[in-house]
Amino acid sequence: MLKFDWPTTGNENRLAELENDFESRKISHAYLFSGPMEVGKLTAARFFAQLLICRNQGCGECDDCKLIRANTHQNLTLVDELWIEGVNEDLELLAKKTNFNQSHRTKNPKAKTDTIRIDDLREVLARVNQTSDGWKVFVIHNIERMNREAANFFLKILEEPPQNTTFLLTTSNQSLLLPTIVSRCRVMNFGNVNPTAIDAMLRVKFPNLTEEERNRVVNFSMGKPIRAQRLAENPTVFREFKEYFEKLKNLVEKPNIAEKLAFAEKVSADNLEVQKFLEALAYFLRSFMLTRAKQPVANSRYTPQKLVELIRQLNSTRKLIGGNVNPRLAVESLLLQI
Ligand SMILES: [Zn+2]
Repeated sequence: MLKFDWPTTGNENRLAELENDFESRKISHAYLFSGPMEVGKLTAARFFAQLLICRNQGCGECDDCKLIRANTHQNLTLVDELWIEGVNEDLELLAKKTNFNQSHRTKNPKAKTDTIRIDDLREVLARVNQTSDGWKVFVIHNIERMNREAANFFLKILEEPPQNTTFLLTTSNQSLLLPTIVSRCRVMNFGNVNPTAIDAMLRVKFPNLTEEERNRVVNFSMGKPIRAQRLAENPTVFREFKEYFEKLKNLVEKPNIAEKLAFAEKVSADNLEVQKFLEALAYFLRSFMLTRAKQPVANSRYTPQKLVELIRQLNSTRKLIGGNVNPRLAVESLLLQI
């Protein structure tokens, strides 16, 4: 049983560990919330920040809690959405999600991607060095976005942790991180959430969904409660995922080499898309395996051994992409084996 009312679904064991650290006042200097996209790592990190900063156990009602929720508390620094030329240019809007000074990103050379660079971390360090009362928390989302130079700079910050300061870091691809950074963090492994828990969350938060709508949201969410919420809230997101899901199903069930190559080309243009694809495929293959374990199909291309082999290949593809292999070739070779 959890003591606090976490605004997340699933991964209760990890949350219990965090509560335990909090209650026993054994707070690490750095936590790494590691696991698939959209399972609630950032939401959990932010609630943990609230627990640490609020003087009344994350009450949700005091001034500290209100400022934390509005992302304007001076003891909470968030590095989430970054300024990108032509993509994300509204600094005022961004300040709500990433509340350190990022005007340097708008100057020459202007930032063109969401890579976290050394000059971003210099701004973060300036906030680390500011004196303040109470606990200071730095939430940095998807730290695999740091380039090598930034990662080395960040390592130096972690090596000399200031008093009463905690870094809450998230990553959805731990294999891309410097092992020396990981080893300085208490790693909290988050996983996909079981469909029953997602269904229960939807019943409470979206009571107007029909049973059929809810089942489809659960299905497309692929174990990701944050995605389930986005799907339930926004019909456009729902339509996009429906198309994505059908495409993937098609690629697995009706093998067509030309389609696979075209898909690989499209997906590999964007790192996030590659990640989304690998996670979706992993989910697909696992659920395939579970269904087949219950109801074996004679003469199927997908024997249990073949599925296990594919999942193994998929995991090594994730690592290869981390090691700077051409993502398009890696995705192509994976798809061609399906
Ligand atoms: Zn409070």
